Amino acid sequence: MSVFFISDLHLQAERPDITRAFVHFIETTAKHAEQLYILGDLFEAWIGDDMPVPEFEQAFASLKNLSNSGCQIYFQCGNRDFLVGQKLMARIGATRLSDTAIVSLPVGPALLMHGDQLCTDDTEYQSFREMVRNPAWQQAFADKPINERIAIAKQLRSASKARGMEKADDIMDVNEQAVETAFKHADVDLMIHGHTHRPDIHTTKLDGRTRSRIVLGDWDHSLWYLSCDINGLNLVDEPILGL
Ligand code: MN
Repeated sequence: MSVFFISDLHLQAERPDITRAFVHFIETTAKHAEQLYILGDLFEAWIGDDMPVPEFEQAFASLKNLSNSGCQIYFQCGNRDFLVGQKLMARIGATRLSDTAIVSLPVGPALLMHGDQLCTDDTEYQSFREMVRNPAWQQAFADKPINERIAIAKQLRSASKARGMEKADDIMDVNEQAVETAFKHADVDLMIHGHTHRPDIHTTKLDGRTRSRIVLGDWDHSLWYLSCDINGLNLVDEPILGL
């Protein structure tokens, strides 16, 4: 059984090369996968499933084909696409995962998350997260017309840009205490997340157990994915070429 993990593609109309690389990845690399996990920030921004996105139509069709061919696709939202809803899930043939999920992999159980929850040193972001994850806030937002939602999203983006949160270098890294707590709470030895744009494999001893934290990379100059089968885990990057 082969399982693939991706995150932080930040698909956007301005980067058709990344969308093309994603379609190519789905139709070649992930073609024979039994499971594909998307761990958040698939999109640069998502203001609701009713937003017209013709630029992603081919990508959605590729995902749906993959799903129809028997691959189970799982989607966990990130800090950019937490407003993805059931309509999109149905369109791409994916199942929504909760913000923290423990799944069974060929190498054993693993804790999956986007990773923004672990960046607890960024208290300003954590209060923002709390606000926008509130169902009442989300309902009020969803009730606004699309143009107004786009304007609000832009406003939130420029506020976050002003704070220097937009450059990869400035995304705060995870808090080690938060990582330990997550490991202990989940009672697993493997954690997989994205968000920080710092792809790496970290191994630490905790309570006498060797624990591994695999950080997926963002898609920009390279595409990143983690593959997993009975033989182990493989974190891969490949250049994004002008396909
Ligand atoms: Mn993120």
